[in-house]
Amino acid sequence: MLYNLNSNIFHLGIDDTDSNEGLCTTYLGTQIVNLLLDYQVLFLDFPLLIRLNPNIPFKTRGNGAIAFRFILDQSRVDSLWSDLIKIIEEFSDIKAAETHPGMVLIKGEIPTFMKNLYSKALNELISLEDVKKELKEDNNIRLFFLKKGRGLIGASAAIGSTLDQDYTFELIAYRIKDNWGDKKRLIDKKTVFTADREEPLTISNIDNDHGDIMILPHGPDPVYCGIRGETVKSVVNMWRSLKVFEPIETLMIYRTNQHTRVHFLTDSDSNNIHPFQSIISKGEVIESPRYIEGAHVIFSLKIDENIIDCAAYEPTKKFRNQVMGLHKGDILQVCGGIRAHEQGKSLTLNLEEFTVLYLKTEFKYLTPKCPHCNITLKSAGKNSGFKCKRCSFTAHKKYYIKLQTPRVLKPNVRYVSPVCAQRHLTKPIDREVSLQFHSFNETSFSEQFDDFLNIREDILRNIINHKEN
Ligand SMILES: [Zn+2]
Repeated sequence: MLYNLNSNIFHLGIDDTDSNEGLCTTYLGTQIVNLLLDYQVLFLDFPLLIRLNPNIPFKTRGNGAIAFRFILDQSRVDSLWSDLIKIIEEFSDIKAAETHPGMVLIKGEIPTFMKNLYSKALNELISLEDVKKELKEDNNIRLFFLKKGRGLIGASAAIGSTLDQDYTFELIAYRIKDNWGDKKRLIDKKTVFTADREEPLTISNIDNDHGDIMILPHGPDPVYCGIRGETVKSVVNMWRSLKVFEPIETLMIYRTNQHTRVHFLTDSDSNNIHPFQSIISKGEVIESPRYIEGAHVIFSLKIDENIIDCAAYEPTKKFRNQVMGLHKGDILQVCGGIRAHEQGKSLTLNLEEFTVLYLKTEFKYLTPKCPHCNITLKSAGKNSGFKCKRCSFTAHKKYYIKLQTPRVLKPNVRYVSPVCAQRHLTKPIDREVSLQFHSFNETSFSEQFDDFLNIREDILRNIINHKEN
């Protein structure tokens, strides 16, 4: 049936409505879902939360865009479009200097240029003018933007992200407006640790190295908490078992590319490494790691003919010890973001993960011991052998015992920055499950999202009960 109605399938993308000071694109997403429900659309998928290149300096730390796919009666599109514009105007933080909202609506098939744009926007800096030009050439596309409209890039890329390979879910709970700002988020912390153990298909709830709870943000935004997981069931179950001590306005579940490492899937062009890229590349350690001021660790890597500095900064904590385990001569695959270029200096890679492809074997040479006394022999003089100080043992020629130096690092193992320092796209070290949980339900996102909307009210009621008990 869906295919007969192809002309009425719509894809909506939105980006760059938030700032680091407040609001949040995913909160705006909840308003969009409410609006689309008023229009009685058929959702074809969960709302999508699409993280793009984490290494873009003027974007908020998360660099996340949202997208919606739905079926709507063609006759209602004009009216929907004007209502969408009202929501963007109301819920965008346009006073913030670096917020430039953009919204794109297309009918029918996803244009190839948007799919390509998604792949590129995961690790590159994209030209806004190029994207605007492409968008304006297609009569099937409606676009709206405020200020510079840089959000048109993320909005188009989010539409182009089909998430047909790996993906995860995030359940996000939002605070009531009275609690936005600096108010501490109230929760029974014990229930987070318990739920984390009971729901193994949730992701990175806790930074086990430091015992920190990761599901609660610290900023002034409306988000109360975000629970990430492999399945809808896992995130809903975890939310149900938390004891929440403040009222919650609403909940939303997004399907996302978070924790899929999709920005590091194809090798970067080693002859064109430049600032603001997220790169994956191979190279040889040509200068062993060392600590520098600020407790950062740095080493030099040769990628083809280029030499770059690789840095593990202080916030990556024990990851720095793993980096310190590298030796000159090791061959690595490195992943991370290229920092802004300082004049006269080589490029710096902010290291997010590495794998040793070739661990250099190193040897040390020891003076042999006396076979009788087991004490180390002494030189019997230049051009002579060894002798034992205690007994009469002598060796007529000098010889040494070759010993392999033990290495702490193992080849072909991913070493990843800890949960507390991870980016949204980082694939945690213990997340090697992915597709096996996903293959059976690819076609049922529409129904799963519908189910979620139906149980949402019930879930919210339970939370308020916790508070009253
Ligand atoms: Zn001896």
